[in-house]
Amino acid sequence: MGWSFQFGRLFGIPLRVHVTFFLLLAFVAWGDSHGLRDPRSGLMGAAYIAALFACVVLHELGHSLVARRYGVKVSHIMLLPIGGVALIERIPDNPKQEFRIAIAGPLVNIAIGALCGAGLLIAGQPLVVPSADLLTGGHFLLRIATVNIFLALFNLLPAFPMDGGRILRSLMAQNMDYAKATRLAAGLGQTLAFVFGILGVFTNPWLLLIAVFIYLGAGQEGQQVQVRSLLRNVPVGYAMAKQFAVMQPDEPLARAVEEAMAGYQHDFPVVEGPQVVGLVTRDALIAALYERGSETPLRDVMAEQFCTAAAEDSLADLYDRMNHDGCPAVVVVQDGQPVGLLTPERVVQYLRYLAQHPYAKSASSEPPPATGSRPS
Ligand SMILES: [Zn+2]
Repeated sequence: MGWSFQFGRLFGIPLRVHVTFFLLLAFVAWGDSHGLRDPRSGLMGAAYIAALFACVVLHELGHSLVARRYGVKVSHIMLLPIGGVALIERIPDNPKQEFRIAIAGPLVNIAIGALCGAGLLIAGQPLVVPSADLLTGGHFLLRIATVNIFLALFNLLPAFPMDGGRILRSLMAQNMDYAKATRLAAGLGQTLAFVFGILGVFTNPWLLLIAVFIYLGAGQEGQQVQVRSLLRNVPVGYAMAKQFAVMQPDEPLARAVEEAMAGYQHDFPVVEGPQVVGLVTRDALIAALYERGSETPLRDVMAEQFCTAAAEDSLADLYDRMNHDGCPAVVVVQDGQPVGLLTPERVVQYLRYLAQHPYAKSASSEPPPATGSRPS
């Protein structure tokens, strides 16, 4: 994600802040503007902002540490104005694990709120203030408690991309198909966004902003899960091209160009005997053609490090890997020999085919798992 920078690291997880996070800080500072005239109050304002930072980080750390316990890697924690995001590598397929990861964040805020409440009781301070300005008025501990309860409730809204949306989906997914649970949760989220939007027009413009955010988040989540659920239980062998040209290392570049012009293939496995030893991609082909000329042997152009897979591997996992590692093409191998070729375009083609023939997958492969049963 652009527009962000790293400011620290906790439990080995990089902490990043998005520039828009400072909008929130400006908002709080604005509410505290009397602090500019009163240094002591200004200092409290700064301490409050620092504490707010810490609470958001702790919330995300809650998600991250539970995710890690289930073997899910956490790439970093990002602070955004609406809270934070823990960028986890994948959402676990097991709904119970997803539930625990999602609820860990709001639970951290509730725990902080409760601790602050206990602190207030010990200090003999009142737990409520008559002020309407709860976020900026009252005892320091009370403000921290209030903002944490607010963070917990906001994140528990049953809509993607909020934690509440994931919690709802994981609860429904224990009794139904994951994609269907996502569709229902996303639909409910978008309805909620609609209600927020209408309320926002008549009351608070912040609600309108939240509505747009929820609406976009719900759609995106639905799409991602749709792709994964379509590719679920599909082996790589079903989507790969089985008819493809291979090249020899000593053949000139011109041969591959000729082949590329003649057909739909742009990436060529290079074989020595029966074994695949390299891959010439479309980009490498074009670059080499300009820089070295068409007589260059493919041996000098091919990449010796390239993505490979087995025909029986899961296509859903491979597609994640292709997006993550940026594989332009995957050579499907068996005992070191190329048996198939898979490109992102080919996966998209296959997805389109599945969308048009919804029963193709169950007809040609083993049937999808029964509703509610899921490998854990
Ligand atoms: Zn969260």
